[in-house]
Amino acid sequence: MTAPPITTIPFFSPELFEQDREALLETVRAIGTGPEQTFILGERTACLERELAGRTGAREAVACSSGTSALTLILAAMGVGPGDEVIVPAFGCAPLAATVVDAGARPVFADIDPVRLTADPAAAESLITSRTKVLLAAHMFSVMADMPAFRDLADRRGLRLIEDSALAQGGTLRGRAAGRWGDAGVYSFVQVKTFGMPGEGGMVVTDDTALAADVRMLRNHGQDGVHRFVHHRIGHNSRFDEVMAAFQLHRLPGLDARLARRAEMAARYSRRLAPLAGRGLVAPPEGGDGRFPYVYTVLTERRDALRAHLAEHGVGAHVYYPRPLPAHPAFAPYARPGGSWPNAEDAARRTISLPLYPNLTDAQVEYIADTVCAFADTQGDR
Ligand SMILES: *Cc1c(COP(=O)(O)O)cnc(C)c1O
Repeated sequence: MTAPPITTIPFFSPELFEQDREALLETVRAIGTGPEQTFILGERTACLERELAGRTGAREAVACSSGTSALTLILAAMGVGPGDEVIVPAFGCAPLAATVVDAGARPVFADIDPVRLTADPAAAESLITSRTKVLLAAHMFSVMADMPAFRDLADRRGLRLIEDSALAQGGTLRGRAAGRWGDAGVYSFVQVKTFGMPGEGGMVVTDDTALAADVRMLRNHGQDGVHRFVHHRIGHNSRFDEVMAAFQLHRLPGLDARLARRAEMAARYSRRLAPLAGRGLVAPPEGGDGRFPYVYTVLTERRDALRAHLAEHGVGAHVYYPRPLPAHPAFAPYARPGGSWPNAEDAARRTISLPLYPNLTDAQVEYIADTVCAFADTQGDR
């Protein structure tokens, strides 16, 4: 029998908002008892939109009910519908394909780059047809997609480009913020994301004022914000909560420090784990331009054994996306018959993500790295 682990480090911290609990309760009290009794799309939401537009240099920022909904609203605003094709990554989270299907269009799966683990622009280009309307690029674990190549591809072929930066807030590439390479970008504020909060929410950022006006309408049943009960478009209910807006405004000044702390930990992991490349464990490319510190994801043929080894030693790890999108029952009917996505399949088999959050201590990161190194020292007999 193995002894119980001496320590337990969860994959996601239950204490992410510990420093801000009083502020959250105070916010609920203030808004709950305030004279305006405005709980959605009020002054605080507008203020958060202005702040994030300012921070990212976007002309417009439109808050909505989730990252998934942000994708849905952008697709609708771009007029994507039946008969259209949207090129999406073959590896990633369900909304990348589900929102396209919901719009009545067809997701066309592009294989990924084996190092970045994001859609490969050359693979995407080979899939363009006369029906292609939009390219949807998404950032994944900590390496941004090749956005200069996607921007160039979209411009050359006259396509629209959506940048799903739901988890990449804080990343920059060639001085441009994640979310700002596409015609529109998306952020998610769900708990675990880099600017997460204790609730649901998302944001669309864009320089396209007409697109932003459409997204604004579509998030509130197609009304224009001036005339209530005049519906210009078939819209959605995707409004933003004032308590969450106030909480995000409270947390915004600390965001850069939390991102810096995450980046420091990612660098610490890399110092320890990059040397394992010769022993069957591949760490992400060294930090630098186009990186953002979300989770820390490594590749290994012995992924399931590493996960078990970490669990034995009290470390929570996550396997994001154990199968590529076209291999899910929900999406297989949309996949090109006979298509294959070897890099996506390889990533689904080999990726494993390690904990990375601002309130991990250096000692915990070292302990996790020690545990991974000890595993790499065992031979491939597990
Ligand atoms: C989290 C995430 C989403 C969905 O955001 P929600 O706010 O959970 O709806 C979409 N795309 C990517 C890449 C994500 O990481």
